[in-house]
Amino acid sequence: MQVRHGIAVSPGVAIGPAFVLGVEDFRIPKDSVSIDAVNVEVERLHAALEKVAQEISANEALAAKHLGKEYASIFGAHLQFVRDPKLIEQIERRIREDHESPEHASSQVLRRYAKELQHLGDQYLAERAADIFDLERSLLRHLLGEQREELSHLTTEVIVLAYNLTPSETAGLNRKFVQGFATEKGGSTSHTAILAGALEIPAIVGVGDFLTDISGGETVILDGNEGRLIIGPDEKTLEKYRLIKERFQSKSQALRKLGVGQAITTDGVSIEVCGNIEFPEEAIQCKERGADGIGLYRTEFLYLGAMGERSEEDHYQAYRKVIDTFGERPVTIRTLDVGADKIPGAMKHVYNEVSNPELGLRSIRVSLEYLELFKTQLRAILRAAVFGNARVMFPLISSIGEFRQARMVFRDVCEDLEEQKIEHNPHIPVGMMVEVPSAAIMAEEFAHEVDFFSIGTNDLIQYTLAADRSDPMVAKYYNGSDPSVLFLVRRVLFAARDAKLPVAVCGQMSSNPMFVPLLLGMGLRNLSVTPQSVPIIKQLVRNISITECEELAQKCYQLDLARDIETFLRGELKRFLPDRDLP
Ligand code: PEP
Ligand code: MG
Repeated sequence: MQVRHGIAVSPGVAIGPAFVLGVEDFRIPKDSVSIDAVNVEVERLHAALEKVAQEISANEALAAKHLGKEYASIFGAHLQFVRDPKLIEQIERRIREDHESPEHASSQVLRRYAKELQHLGDQYLAERAADIFDLERSLLRHLLGEQREELSHLTTEVIVLAYNLTPSETAGLNRKFVQGFATEKGGSTSHTAILAGALEIPAIVGVGDFLTDISGGETVILDGNEGRLIIGPDEKTLEKYRLIKERFQSKSQALRKLGVGQAITTDGVSIEVCGNIEFPEEAIQCKERGADGIGLYRTEFLYLGAMGERSEEDHYQAYRKVIDTFGERPVTIRTLDVGADKIPGAMKHVYNEVSNPELGLRSIRVSLEYLELFKTQLRAILRAAVFGNARVMFPLISSIGEFRQARMVFRDVCEDLEEQKIEHNPHIPVGMMVEVPSAAIMAEEFAHEVDFFSIGTNDLIQYTLAADRSDPMVAKYYNGSDPSVLFLVRRVLFAARDAKLPVAVCGQMSSNPMFVPLLLGMGLRNLSVTPQSVPIIKQLVRNISITECEELAQKCYQLDLARDIETFLRGELKRFLPDRDLP
């Protein structure tokens, strides 16, 4: 049994067979082989090995012809490896004596070899490990033949383990069969992490190297509460986690009830708790959990996984669905925030050469570059806005000129719709996300231009502290408690207060109970959080007074270390939110 740790990004516990993606892309059955079938299975192994050998020989001949003998010799080494009697004997033994399937036995043996090579401390040999994974892949392809199960065609429940999952791959996960996922890469507020929460799939990211330690089909426990991945658990651990899983499920059900009713502090201040969504289908779940509206609808997920462009009608239908669900309650629709890691299939070629996508053509910059795309979306928003209380919001605004430019396009679209006599609502509030430090610095000036602010702490933290939000290697630098981040958030809240402008925080910081008293103490009255956290955040608000929050904020301003601020906030949270209320 091995225990690995990562960053917990979506709560819950999953127990099941591993589906190792990226290395084999299909699932390896661990089924045991009955005694009568052992000979047949061993024959199947030999047949598959022979086919792999034939493939390698064909490649060797091809390489010799086109590239020369020295390149062909690489394949010669591969051939020797698949014909190595010692290797074959080890696999055979696992089939005959341990009754493992040939797929599982060969995967285990080959991976052990690969790992040994990786740990010999020699760069050349470590790189040869990749060749062994390649061989494993070929062998499995032949062994599994038609039966191989791909991620897109799952028929049974699995836990997906991958080097990394892009937001579009995550968005495409089949919730019925994918019980959880863990990735070697990823950070706490990466879009993949946010999506895991939206899909309500227990997940951990940033685990570091672990894929070579596991074969498909092996049982794993994924603990999305504590950020733990347990490979090959013993019976006692399995039993313990089955209980934790049950308890978590019943607690989650009980927690939902806390969403009912308003969130009013003990000194009578009403706090609006809205929800963040990525898919229109989430609107209903958000409402059921007690959200006062939608504070952030990330519309780019309409594009992810889509092959081509989305029509005005596609946009319109999606927005209507959300607006209709919330009636008179506010629905804040953010225009496309593609680029960086959220790249729609159809635009991949544009980004292939980009060395630093987080600082590249992203978000509002894409909309202003591809005006037709932008106008299509704005038309749909303005049309859907006739049916409820919609607001439009531009992401990643970094200068006043940029906001004016976007607003101008908005006005042009209103005029077009007017001329075409198409029903629309030109009076909807037009706001911006404050998620680039330049925008926070200029908040007072922006306040004269916009109808509302929404602070995107996920990006604000990464750009303020120069720490990629999805890179686990710099996770320790990515810190919402840093005084510089708090300074900027406060600055925006003060600018909004002075200009009597609505302001919300829609970054993950407001979904984290630890930060909520501080944000309220700084003057925030509107939070937009993940659907799952709506009930707990509402309950927290009901347990505190604004006076206490203001005192707490004053104490934080005195501290100059992120670590001290975090320790202080954690301690305070225990006072406001007893353990029994925590998920
Ligand atoms: C943010 O940056 O805080 C935000 C809410 O936007 P996203 O996470 O989609 O970048
Ligand atoms: Mg953002």
